[in-house]
Amino acid sequence: MADTIAAVATAMTASGIGIIRISGPKSREIAGKIYRSKGGKKRIENVPSHTIQYGFICDEDEIIDEVLVMVMDAPRSYTGENTVEIDCHGGVLAMKRVLETVVKYGARPAEPGEFTKRAFLNGRIDLSQAEAVIDVINAKNEYALKSSISQLRGNIQRVIKEIRQGIIYQIAYIESALDDPEHISIDGYGDTLKGEISLLKEKLNGLLDTVREGKLMKEGIKTVIVGKPNAGKSSLLNLLVGEERAIVTDIAGTTRDILEETIVLHGISLRMIDTAGIRDTDDVVEKIGVKKAVENAKDADLILYVVDSSVPLDENDKEIIELLKDKKAIVILNKMDLQQQVTEEDLKEKTNHPVVAVSAKEEEGIEFLEAKIKEMFFEGNLSFNDEIYITNMRHKAAIEDAKRSLELVENSIEMQMPEDFFSIDLMNAYEALGSIIGESVGEDLVNEIFSKFCTGK
Ligand code: GDP
Repeated sequence: MADTIAAVATAMTASGIGIIRISGPKSREIAGKIYRSKGGKKRIENVPSHTIQYGFICDEDEIIDEVLVMVMDAPRSYTGENTVEIDCHGGVLAMKRVLETVVKYGARPAEPGEFTKRAFLNGRIDLSQAEAVIDVINAKNEYALKSSISQLRGNIQRVIKEIRQGIIYQIAYIESALDDPEHISIDGYGDTLKGEISLLKEKLNGLLDTVREGKLMKEGIKTVIVGKPNAGKSSLLNLLVGEERAIVTDIAGTTRDILEETIVLHGISLRMIDTAGIRDTDDVVEKIGVKKAVENAKDADLILYVVDSSVPLDENDKEIIELLKDKKAIVILNKMDLQQQVTEEDLKEKTNHPVVAVSAKEEEGIEFLEAKIKEMFFEGNLSFNDEIYITNMRHKAAIEDAKRSLELVENSIEMQMPEDFFSIDLMNAYEALGSIIGESVGEDLVNEIFSKFCTGK
């Protein structure tokens, strides 16, 4: 039988309330030992499931905190086990003391992710849903959140199960035909199977097609701003950052305090790289040089090239334009509030990149930039109605494995191999897809996945 685990489920910082979660067969018993109702008569052991009790957490005569205690019996709880949650005051010390008391009376401190792991092991959720839990917690923009919620609701599980069903049907057919050749004919089955496999592959490809967008959605578009000094790079950056709250990320091991900032434009995250250089003095920009910036941008998804429209293009611009060849870039024609010396058409022709006209000073034209980014990366139609995006690289690898196995079946058909060869690779495809939802996965993988969780989840 599983032991009873406990952890602080909320953040370990001072806040309004903190939640101590207890899960396992002894949850009620442990809570019962440390709970006192106001009148002193009510016992946690006897209250109905799914009710909330007001009272105190005590260690013998000592009152630790004033609390609400929520009792949820198996199987109707997050883990599927008997669960008790204690809402205490959200002070770090208060939460720590309540947890210590729970542990003192028989619970074991939970490992990271252990509650969700139990939910998975008890069949409350599949592995893709468990992974969605981390993604929901870590979501950095609205689309990433929606995608994770959709996964949490079992949408990935649904399509994967559907595809697996298609595969297992073929395996079953082949096996029964081999067992009972008198009644089930397998003549010419290769051709039928070929058609089926091509349909299954189409579905897998459909999922793989969402990976790029899914990744950009989840992790953000890696973006670099380049342009000559004085073009308005930092003004633009300030404007973009100012429009919506930026999340500033400290990258460990660097002396610069800001190296990457995330800007959220209408639900899409732009991860701005190397902003420190831009924000510093002009001579640093000069020193870094555009060439270096573009080099840094090698693995960037997008380069924003800022041009001052009030001065004619010069040799430096030519050089930058040269460097932007074959890159994904948007030219931002800035300072449109001034007399124009460079036109949109002119730049479009010279750079072969889309051009948007803005004024960072007047805060105009940013919506065109947003629209262009959506068009370039999400074909403009980033609506979200339960569409599935593969955002987890483990899932991607499993889908690719399954696809490879189906291709081996195609080869075997082509080479007119005996039918039992088909079943082996079909089975491999079936199992590869099963790993996404947690069927036929080893303990190591399960442990690795849950170790990425925080304690208390
Ligand atoms: P950077 O060197 O590329 O980072 O350029 P800055 O953002 O520091 O801007 C250089 C100068 O241009 C500053 O004096 C800004 O106020 C000014 N500037 C930036 N954007 C605009 C704009 O859209 N219109 C006008 N008129 N001035 C701007």
